[in-house]
Amino acid sequence: MTQARNSFDYIVIGLGGLGSAAAYWLSREAGREVLGIERFELGHERGESADHSRIIRLTYHNTQYVRFAQASYRTWTEMEEDAGDQFVIKTGEVNFWPAETTLSEESYNTSMAACGVPFERLDANDIRRRFPQFRFTDDIHAVYQPDGGLVAASRANAAHRRMARRNGATLLGNMPVTAIRQNGSGYRVTAGGREYEAGKLVIAAGPWTNDALKHLGIRLPLRVTQEQVTYFASPHLEEFAPGRFPVWIWMILDNFYGFPVYGANGVKAARDRFAPVDPDRRSFIPDGGNERDVSAFLERHIPRAHGPVLYSRTCLLTHTPDADFVLDTVPGHPGVVCAVGATHAFKFASVIGKTLGELLKTGRASEDVSLFRFDRPSMRADTAQSFQIEGFGEHGTVS
Ligand SMILES: Cc1cc2nc3c(=O)[nH]c(=O)nc-3n(C[C@H](O)[C@H](O)[C@H](O)COP(=O)(O)OP(=O)(O)OC[C@H]3O[C@@H](n4cnc5c(N)ncnc54)[C@H](O)[C@@H]3O)c2cc1C
Repeated sequence: MTQARNSFDYIVIGLGGLGSAAAYWLSREAGREVLGIERFELGHERGESADHSRIIRLTYHNTQYVRFAQASYRTWTEMEEDAGDQFVIKTGEVNFWPAETTLSEESYNTSMAACGVPFERLDANDIRRRFPQFRFTDDIHAVYQPDGGLVAASRANAAHRRMARRNGATLLGNMPVTAIRQNGSGYRVTAGGREYEAGKLVIAAGPWTNDALKHLGIRLPLRVTQEQVTYFASPHLEEFAPGRFPVWIWMILDNFYGFPVYGANGVKAARDRFAPVDPDRRSFIPDGGNERDVSAFLERHIPRAHGPVLYSRTCLLTHTPDADFVLDTVPGHPGVVCAVGATHAFKFASVIGKTLGELLKTGRASEDVSLFRFDRPSMRADTAQSFQIEGFGEHGTVS
């Protein structure tokens, strides 16, 4: 019986949203020289990336993110062509700007304008005319961006993994990485009690990033929280179909956001919880208070979307102090790259996967990722005082 291989050019640690994308993009050139290792079963729902949908948008508060988002749309298109399937569904995006918000609408609008992204300011009458499903007082205005929409998250993850395997990559589930050691110019990785060797590593371990980095003697100031989304059994589902209803965000710090019907017979909506949690000791029990908050918001502002709760799904978020990603080579380890999604990365999953491969192969990224440096001041554990930032659309976190 042939002995299973244990030596590869690349090992990807973590096959959630970002790691699955990295395995796919690396496999396009390196094929069977790629090994992906996942601690739970492939496609599990214990991390950050499992659900029917995640918001994709160009509406960001600085030009680096807007340009990276533009690159993300191009990369999804390339991946979709290879998969022969569609994962990005443009539904239009409506960002509501209530008077009490502490977020800067101007930073979003000037960043979009600087990058040639079309958008419209809608007053209350415009909103009623264009999206009669919403109920808001006259003092509310919104910004509409036509390219916003959703990514079919779990389907896209499965497609990245399917194509990585088609290209020759080996993907192993239920194999927790328990040790990483330097081995000459490469690395030795212990997973599921077996030893694997590789020249280069990708660390895309999400909420467990520090568990992986500790083997390299490194710790980042990360915070993990438990979040949830709720699906409501609206009696008027057809009114919330993609094409009739946009993705929407109520632009405050701990904001509400929602989707057209996709993947389930319910209208999905959510509010950020930011409840700190130990990813290894979390419960999967939804928070009734959060469900009631979202239910009340729908009843008031999108009444025909409201109905009995179909179900709520919990998941994890990994926060960085400045809410910017980590997407970089690990200092002192030119053969190791790391990505942390900082609460808003799924829309960028494929371009982040592609960029991780570029950094490993050439040390350079084709996109501007200077904002996401591993060793930027706010990421140095000794300087990271508290988690305070400008809000970021679907997750505006505070400490
Ligand atoms: C409720 C909610 C709503 C969101 N909404 C949006 C949105 O609308 N738009 C958007 O862009 N983003 C959104 N996000 C954020 C986005 O989903 C995340 O930023 C992204 O999915 C992070 O992916 P990841 O691969 O880093 O993490 P994960 O998917 O958690 O992947 C990490 C993987 O590493 C594995 N792993 C960890 N340790 C080990 C080990 N020792 N050995 C082997 N494997 C290991 C884990 O099991 C896991 O599979 C949302 C997140 C949540 C929770």
